[in-house]
Amino acid sequence: MTRRTTRRVFFAVGAAFLALLPVVASLAFTRGAAIHRGETRVGQVAAQLADHVGQVLWTAEGTLADLAWFARAGCSDTLILEMRAKAAALYAFRGIAYVSPDNRLECTSFGKLQRPIPVHGPPTVIVPAGSLVAFTPPIETDFFPGLSIVAGHRLRHGGWIGVLIPPDLLFGALPADALGTDGTAVVTMAGQRLAGHGDAPPPATERLSATRETSLFETSVTASATRAWALADWRRNLMLNGALGGLAGLALVAAAVHLAGRRSSFADELTDALEDQEFEVHYQPVIDLQRDRCVGAEALIRWRHPVRGLVPPDLFIALAEETGVIVPITRWLMREVGKEMGALLREHAEAHIAVNLAPAHFVDLEVIADAKHAAEEAGIEPRQLLFEVTERGLVDDEGCQRVIDGLAALGSEVAIDDFGTGYSSLAYVGKFRLDYLKIDKAFVATIGTAAASSGLAAIIIEMANQLGLRIIAEGVETEAQMIYLRERGVALAQGWHFSKPLPAADFLAFFRRYNAPPPAAAGG
Ligand code: C2E
Ligand code: CA
Ligand code: CA
Repeated sequence: MTRRTTRRVFFAVGAAFLALLPVVASLAFTRGAAIHRGETRVGQVAAQLADHVGQVLWTAEGTLADLAWFARAGCSDTLILEMRAKAAALYAFRGIAYVSPDNRLECTSFGKLQRPIPVHGPPTVIVPAGSLVAFTPPIETDFFPGLSIVAGHRLRHGGWIGVLIPPDLLFGALPADALGTDGTAVVTMAGQRLAGHGDAPPPATERLSATRETSLFETSVTASATRAWALADWRRNLMLNGALGGLAGLALVAAAVHLAGRRSSFADELTDALEDQEFEVHYQPVIDLQRDRCVGAEALIRWRHPVRGLVPPDLFIALAEETGVIVPITRWLMREVGKEMGALLREHAEAHIAVNLAPAHFVDLEVIADAKHAAEEAGIEPRQLLFEVTERGLVDDEGCQRVIDGLAALGSEVAIDDFGTGYSSLAYVGKFRLDYLKIDKAFVATIGTAAASSGLAAIIIEMANQLGLRIIAEGVETEAQMIYLRERGVALAQGWHFSKPLPAADFLAFFRRYNAPPPAAAGG
């Protein structure tokens, strides 16, 4: 896996994780909101029920208070008629009963009993609501089939009357599906259970419940529903939410992966390219003009970008120099030169390969160690590496001096590159221990032309001779230029007239072909 791919994978995993976070957060949020909605709904149901229960009890109390007046004379016909009328009018009541002061049930809303039945008082007075109404939990009587809550009213002269309320009726206001199939509702009065609806409530952890008091009678209603009920809609939408979240996540991941490729700085890309072996070296033959032999080459880097194709050095060298990535790039290049040209250099001791250095190489002595190591590794002489330094590189006096001295100590030679294109060439040339001066192709190009600068090449050559520097002419494109340079004693030359920069194998072939004895001399 290449570094670029590795980073993309890392980014993708990170992005996927990050993309999942909002999805999870949003699911958690919508879940919380669903629970909250469920709680609100349960609260509403409890309030609705409490309201209803309050009304039923209020009506019971009112009814009994009305009947108390008729009951003052015991079980009269009037009382029976009144009881019957009230029971018929109020669907909330199953019936009404009169119990005499000696605790015998004597008449009901159905009529007078043949034989009064002893009862044990209002059995459980659980709420003395203003001493008017007392209740018993649901009981079954012979006269009023089905369980009834008895709301009893004590009569002043003793005994009591009571209405019997079917417990279910308290939940009459509850829509069937208000709390889901597992929902429950319980009416309690003074802490005692008066009526219940639904099976036993689920354990507290799985339950949403709400309690609302009725305004009278110390009565409250607790409604509860399961969490599952509250989350039913959320669950139903989970697939949709998840799918939407997933899509959003995928989009984010795609964007992140895309960005991973772009977000990395150009310097990172160069480092990746180095690791991913995307650089290659091309070799431009260098010709000994006087002997007409190929004596080596200048190593020129190329970047075979997986997407952009072959990137010329002009586009990336400046940045590689600025960021210092040029140092590891050059280290790689020298080792690559060793691998590709090792055999040739070992065979031809006089041959050399020129390596370009950048200002970044002069901040420390690393390049010297790199050169030494590369030469050792390839089994070649360090002097077979020639270093080209541009004027731009020769600014930091002390650093340059030490590096150039170090390279010289290895036995390598140093050339000043692009001579004449900078501003202070002359000032520097004398300062450093240089071996070659490279006439820039700009000057070579004017040779033989009518340009005002056409004489400069000659002047530079003269100057180099004065300084005791050998000359390499670059950018030689024509035979006329070649002849001109040769006649003026220029040592080496390179340019399209001889060859463009070539891949390693092509250069090796060129070297052999160029240096092969001419056919005429071959026989002898
Ligand atoms: P340079 O060192 O002056 O290299 C010579 C440039 O001139 C090369 O361009 C070469 O292909 C081109 N050239 C060669 N013969 C002719 C010719 O006859 N006519 C014309 N018009 N051009 C010719 P390239 O390879 O594109 O390199 C451009 C620059 O990139 C180099 O200029 C050098 O400054 C830099 N460079 C290339 N490789 C490296 C490297 O490994 N390290 C460093 N630090 N810089 C490098
Ligand atoms: Ca060069
Ligand atoms: Ca040059």
